[in-house]
Amino acid sequence: MTISRRDFLATTGTCAAHLALAGAILPPAIRRRWTLPTGRVVAAEPFARLENVGKDVWALISTPLSGDFTTVCNGGLIAGKHGVLAIEGFMQPAGARWLATRAKELTGSWPTHVLVTHYHSDHTNGVAGYFDGGMTPKIHSTAATQSQVKDRNLPADPSREHALADAMMVDAASAAKLDIGGRTVRLIPKSGHTASDVAVVIDELDLVFGGDLIWNAMFPNYVDAAPSTLAKSVASLRRSADATYIPGHGPIAKTAEFDRYVAFLNEIERAAREGKQKGLDPKTLAEGYTVPASLGEWTLFQKSFIETAFKAWYKEIA
Ligand SMILES: [Zn+2]
Repeated sequence: MTISRRDFLATTGTCAAHLALAGAILPPAIRRRWTLPTGRVVAAEPFARLENVGKDVWALISTPLSGDFTTVCNGGLIAGKHGVLAIEGFMQPAGARWLATRAKELTGSWPTHVLVTHYHSDHTNGVAGYFDGGMTPKIHSTAATQSQVKDRNLPADPSREHALADAMMVDAASAAKLDIGGRTVRLIPKSGHTASDVAVVIDELDLVFGGDLIWNAMFPNYVDAAPSTLAKSVASLRRSADATYIPGHGPIAKTAEFDRYVAFLNEIERAAREGKQKGLDPKTLAEGYTVPASLGEWTLFQKSFIETAFKAWYKEIA
C-alpha cells in the first residue's frame, strides 16, 4: 500500500514530510549509497530492507527516498526465548504488518511487544498493523508519547489511537528492563528530538536502536528539538568503538558515523550561535549556510530544514 506524495505531505508535519521532499531532490549517487546494507539482508521491499545485525536481532532500514512511504522510519526486531520485541509503529499499518510477518517467519513468533520511540507520525501511524489477525502484542510508550499521538498527529486515525490507548507506560524518569527470555533489553528514556524519546540498548551486542535521537547521512529534523538536550542525550548513548547504532533515519551507523553525527550537531550549534551573534535571523542564516565538506554529505536538499534547526537553537539561546 502506498499513499500519494500530496496526501503524505498533507497529513504529516514531522520527520516524514521532510524525507518526502528529500526524495525529490536527492542526487542519485546519494540515493544509491542509502541502499547499501551493513548487515546480512534477510528480506527486502521497495520501502525497506531487514538486516541481521546480531544473534536474533534485525534492523529494518527504510528506503523512502524512492517515494514509497510504507515504513519511512527505521525500526527492528529483537527476539528472546519467550517473546519478540518490535521497534516502531511505522508510517502505515502495512509497514508494521510487514515487519510482524517477518518476525513470524524468522522466529516463529508474531511480535509480543512493540516499542514506539516517540510520537512522530512516521513512527506511530502504522501501529494498528501489529493487531492484524486478532494478534494482541503489548504496546510500550511513554505517557507523553501516548498523549502526543492523540493530540498532535492529525488528522486523527481512530485505529491508531486505539492501538496506543492500552499502551504499557515506559517510565520517562528511569531506564527499564524488558525480559523477553534469555535476553534483557534496556529501554532508556531520553528527550531532545522530542519532549519524550526512548532508545533501546542490547548490552551484550553493544547495539543501540536510537530512535530519532540518532540520524545518519540525513539532515535531522529539529521541528520539536531541544538542541542542547539532544546533544546530551546523544552523548549518553555512545558506547564502545565496536558498537552498532540503528538510527531513526538513514543507514546503520558504526562509531565513525556516530561520531560524525555528533560533530554535525556541534557544527549546527556553532553556526547558530555565530549567526545569532551577528544578528542574523534564522532564515537569512540558513540561506547562506552549507554544512562543511569535512562532515561528509548530509543531504541538504531543502534549506528550510536548516532554518528549522537554527530556529530551534535560537529559541534555546534566547
Ligand atoms: Zn521523529
